[in-house]
Amino acid sequence: MFDVIRRHLGVKLFLSYLGVILAGALILALATAFSLPRAYNRHLAGMEQVMQNGGMEGMQGLGQGRGQLGQGPGMMRNLYANFRASFVEALSLAAIAALLVAVAVSLILSRSVVAPVRAMQLASQRIAAGHYAERVQAGTEDELGRLAQSFNHMAGELEQVETMRRRLIGDVAHELRTPLTAIQGSAEGLMDGVLPATTETYQQIYQESTRLARLVDDLQELSRVEARAYELDCQPLGLAAVVKTVSKRMGSSFADRQLTFAVDLPVDLPRVRADEGRLVQIVTNLVGNALQYTPAGGTITFKAVLLGEEVQVSVQDTGVGIPPEHLPHIFDRFYRVDKSRSRAHGGSGIGLTIARYLVEAHGGRIWVESAGQNLGSTFFFTLPVAA
Ligand code: ADP
Repeated sequence: MFDVIRRHLGVKLFLSYLGVILAGALILALATAFSLPRAYNRHLAGMEQVMQNGGMEGMQGLGQGRGQLGQGPGMMRNLYANFRASFVEALSLAAIAALLVAVAVSLILSRSVVAPVRAMQLASQRIAAGHYAERVQAGTEDELGRLAQSFNHMAGELEQVETMRRRLIGDVAHELRTPLTAIQGSAEGLMDGVLPATTETYQQIYQESTRLARLVDDLQELSRVEARAYELDCQPLGLAAVVKTVSKRMGSSFADRQLTFAVDLPVDLPRVRADEGRLVQIVTNLVGNALQYTPAGGTITFKAVLLGEEVQVSVQDTGVGIPPEHLPHIFDRFYRVDKSRSRAHGGSGIGLTIARYLVEAHGGRIWVESAGQNLGSTFFFTLPVAA
């Protein structure tokens, strides 16, 4: 019962109105009971005095007094008029007292409702003005308390988005600066005659501008994926076909780097529900990374198993591995284990972030395991089984 009252504003308001009415009625009854007899007695006492005065006049032989006092119907009229006057007096006093109590109780109640709403209004104005750390107190457990909690949640999300936006601008500026500085340096060197105008110098400039273009492409793709500005056309899909597409695309890289690509798919593996283009993109990214971070002679294994309602896919390599302290950040935007190592290959640190968004858009999870430096890495992700 108390729980229902505590958690519902409607019940609270209903009970409050009832309380105001009851308090008013109680005060009215008490005041009437207290003041009516006194007023009535006072009026009767006044009447008695008039009666006595009239009697004495009669006894003194002035003779006309009785008609004034009223006998029979006249006396009843007087009695009634006195009663009415005393009743109106008592009722007026009681009504004023009840009104005062009702006004006081209503004021307290409306303040308890208006105060949190007003606090939220002020907080939203401050947030709109850029103070994202603003929060309100969620004191009660009713709808208003829950509204305050949702408000705080929304403010938290806004704050996070704002922090991400700031960090993204900083990160992008930082990422663009490196190739731009290199291009600028080479161009200046050529202009000043410090650098020879050889094919090598032009190649260097070309490589840096290619890196810049790739970074811009990656960023564009990231913003599209982050904003979910793309369509997922999920269909029942066999993983064997996906692996075939990827290995056809990357076959020559395996040969060039003297790496083995092994595929381990159970024959009875059910089909998954996924967008073919996006799934190829995820697998290409993971296999591409494995290629990049595995020295010659190594093996990259693509494997899938059925686990309950999901298919768990893994891409395992025998490469450089990932130290444990980097594992929690590996899917963060622009994160690289070894910045110099990745830059040499032109990695932007965005590929895994895109892969994570895409896997999650399919309703799956992605994670990585590695025993440590030079002990290889295994990237896992899950996909729902096609119904
Ligand atoms: P990049 O384009 O730099 O490869 P990713 O987002 O794909 O960006 O990867 C982020 C970082 O994770 C890489 O810079 C690298 O340090 C690390 N990484 C990714 N895959 C592997 C792997 N198979 N083996 C070792 N390190 C890896």
